Amino acid sequence: MSRNSLFGPLDPAPDAGHADPPPRKGFFTDTSVCIGCKACEVACKEWNLLPADDAGSMNLLGLSYDNTGALGASSWRHVAFIEQPAPAAREPEFLGMPTSTLPGASPEHQRTELRWLMSSDVCKHCTHAACLDVCPTGSLFRTEFGTVVVQEDICNGCGYCVSACPYGVIDRREGDGRAWKCTLCYDRLKGDLQPACATACPTQSIQFGDLDELRERAARRVDDLHGAGVAEARLYGHDEDDGVGGDGAFFLLLDEPEVYGLPPDPVVTTRDLPAMWRRAALAGAAMAAATVAAFVGGRR
Ligand code: SF4
Ligand code: SF4
Repeated sequence: MSRNSLFGPLDPAPDAGHADPPPRKGFFTDTSVCIGCKACEVACKEWNLLPADDAGSMNLLGLSYDNTGALGASSWRHVAFIEQPAPAAREPEFLGMPTSTLPGASPEHQRTELRWLMSSDVCKHCTHAACLDVCPTGSLFRTEFGTVVVQEDICNGCGYCVSACPYGVIDRREGDGRAWKCTLCYDRLKGDLQPACATACPTQSIQFGDLDELRERAARRVDDLHGAGVAEARLYGHDEDDGVGGDGAFFLLLDEPEVYGLPPDPVVTTRDLPAMWRRAALAGAAMAAATVAAFVGGRR
């Protein structure tokens, strides 16, 4: 096992044993051009034959135009709508109470109007995927494209992957019990097609391709936005030195990750397993030594 097998930069497909794999594939989701049309959600549902999350009841959640709520077993793309009101025209009176600044609040660049942030979320196809590490049946596997796919036909429904995912992506389907999530359209990739969501997106907010090329494109886009005065633009999930070794699906955001419901500093939940096993083995050895000592001492 290499030093980086559970944490740090690596190329996941060769590391998983694929001989001569193609360049790693992924998504770059540029939320600055998302118009919230939800074509990605619909295309994903259609191609993957996903059922309705709420048995077709068409409930409205009261969360702006978001009627899906979150990623789930039957929602592999989720378009979040975040309504950000314009800051108050005048400073609030100080009442002697402790104050805190909301994520993304930037006094130097005060907006003057309400804005919507829209972002199409998806499985991150992590470089270090805890869901895959903990699956006892081999239902989750790393593809030759470097993506993470779940095979529902050999999932036993134990749910280990659900609690292991640092992003809360993978989910068990109600009434079915098995775990489901985005496959980055593995079946389409095998046929030299692009994922359904990227094909359907009318604004190219969702871009699919070789991950290295996408990273360069994303860096140029951030530079362009900064040059145009959008100082808040930043990338999320692109850094291979982060806690999950970087994501195969990364994002350009216009505010801090928490605003979009993303963890600011995700860490692969299996990172500390070797150290934990070492400590457990040490504790076991110490207990065995103490038992032997007590037994030998008792016979004297
Ligand atoms: S985001 Fe969660 S479900 Fe997706 S690959 Fe990473 S750990 Fe697995
Ligand atoms: S299809 Fe593209 S523009 Fe429409 S909601 Fe999805 S990401 Fe946004």
